[in-house]
Amino acid sequence: MISRLKAEFSALLDLISPRRCLVCRQTLAESERHICVKCYLDLPRTGYHKAQHSFLETNYWAKIPIHRAAAYFFYTEQNREILFGFKYHQKPQIGQYMGQLMAEEIVSQSDFFSGIDIIVPIPLHPGRQRQRGYNQSHYIAKGISQVTHIPICEKAVVRTIDNESQTHLLHTQRKDNVEGIFRCLHPELLRGKHILLVDDVITTGATTASCAQAVLQALGEYNEQGLNTTASVQFSILALATATSHRQPMEAGDGYTYEATYTA
Ligand SMILES: [Zn+2]
Repeated sequence: MISRLKAEFSALLDLISPRRCLVCRQTLAESERHICVKCYLDLPRTGYHKAQHSFLETNYWAKIPIHRAAAYFFYTEQNREILFGFKYHQKPQIGQYMGQLMAEEIVSQSDFFSGIDIIVPIPLHPGRQRQRGYNQSHYIAKGISQVTHIPICEKAVVRTIDNESQTHLLHTQRKDNVEGIFRCLHPELLRGKHILLVDDVITTGATTASCAQAVLQALGEYNEQGLNTTASVQFSILALATATSHRQPMEAGDGYTYEATYTA
């Protein structure tokens, strides 16, 4: 309730105070939302959705039946407010907007979404969600679904252990301890499907892999030795950002440069 009030209050503030770009803090033009055109164009895109085997995808090899893995942009100090704004500052609409921008760009440049049956946003622990008032991944998924019309499924998987830190830290700055934090309660909703797991930031991929493994376990298709080629489900993974020490975009000379200031 309080979280909802906070979100409504911040929406009201947006109306009466000048709206600023999350990245450069310049006042936004009337047609701009959350980030200005220049910062939008300057986002350090990964291009992973255009790659057959992206660097991100290799994190999942021999862990889950992975089809593709992509992230919209590389996390940097400059663009961190895009992620923090909607995760910690009660502005879920930023996530939805960025999810939409990401999906539009991916659709126009690749067949990344083709064959995907269902979107599963990485769930928050119920206690955490009550505290925050929303699940940020849900809003990113909503933006993706608006563009692709792929349905969202939030009933199948739950997070049973709250491993998210209280502080404003991204995943890489915490110790990854994600084994067994998810449970798939309704595997029948996912059996035989190509599932898109959606998260806000991906670093090692441990959280998303753990979520996929919970699904495989519930289906009786989990194989500890590695990839189960006979699994009925397959996964693709998509995040707004990736924070990684390997920051090579998939296509050089795309007309963007950035300074990587992130250190794991
Ligand atoms: Zn800007």
